[in-house]
Amino acid sequence: MHEPFLVRLPMGEDLLEAIQREFEIRSISKGSFTVIGAVDRAVLGFYDPVDRIYRNREFPDPLEICACMGNVSIKDGAIFVHAHAVLAGADFQCLGGHLMPGTVIFASELSGSEVPGDALVRGFDEKTGLTLWV
Ligand code: ZN
Repeated sequence: MHEPFLVRLPMGEDLLEAIQREFEIRSISKGSFTVIGAVDRAVLGFYDPVDRIYRNREFPDPLEICACMGNVSIKDGAIFVHAHAVLAGADFQCLGGHLMPGTVIFASELSGSEVPGDALVRGFDEKTGLTLWV
């Protein structure tokens, strides 16, 4: 069992990749995390339950990470990060969604922890079209 950890994520890296790496280097395959900080740009997704696809939107301007939270489990035999984020721009309006690749770190602080117990594995869910915990 690993101790909870706090780490600064590197400027310019993809936020999802950076979170995943911190769990991978600790070999933590079941956990949870929060991130606060700021990004240079962001890509968020909305899952369309009718068409069963993520509709992504790019936000090309700097944003505060007001809240980013998520979990870590196993998908296709590998450590998989699922994260959602609420972001705010210079107008202080919030936007949010499923965190997608393409979100670039300006400065971010990750607080992560391991969750004990049996492995948590994702598999395809017919009812939603999503890859959920089985
Ligand atoms: Zn999601």
